[in-house]
Amino acid sequence: MEVKRCVRCGGFFETVNEVCHTCASKDIKDLGKLKNYLNGYGYSVGKTTKIDVATNTGITMKNLNRLLAGEEFEGVYIPESLENNIDSVSKVKAKV
Ligand SMILES: [Zn+2]
Repeated sequence: MEVKRCVRCGGFFETVNEVCHTCASKDIKDLGKLKNYLNGYGYSVGKTTKIDVATNTGITMKNLNRLLAGEEFEGVYIPESLENNIDSVSKVKAKV
C-alpha cells in the first residue's frame, strides 16, 4: 500500500483512499448530511449557494467542494454565492 496524506486532516496513512480511516467515517456522515440537504426542500436549484449548504449542514467549504467533486454529484452545480446575496455572504464571513 501507498503512504498518502489525508486530504481532510493532513495525517499520513497507508491506503488507496484519499482520506484516513477516521476521516472516512466523517466523510460518510458529511455525505449523508449533504445528500439529505440536496434532497430536502431547503435546497432549490439556482438559488442555493455553497455557503447555504455549508451553513445548513455544518460541512466546511473545503470538504464541501471535495465531496461535490465526487462522481455521484456529477452534473450538480451549486454556485459559490449569488450576486444578490452579498449580505448573507458577508455575514457568514464575519462569523468565521
Ligand atoms: Zn484524516
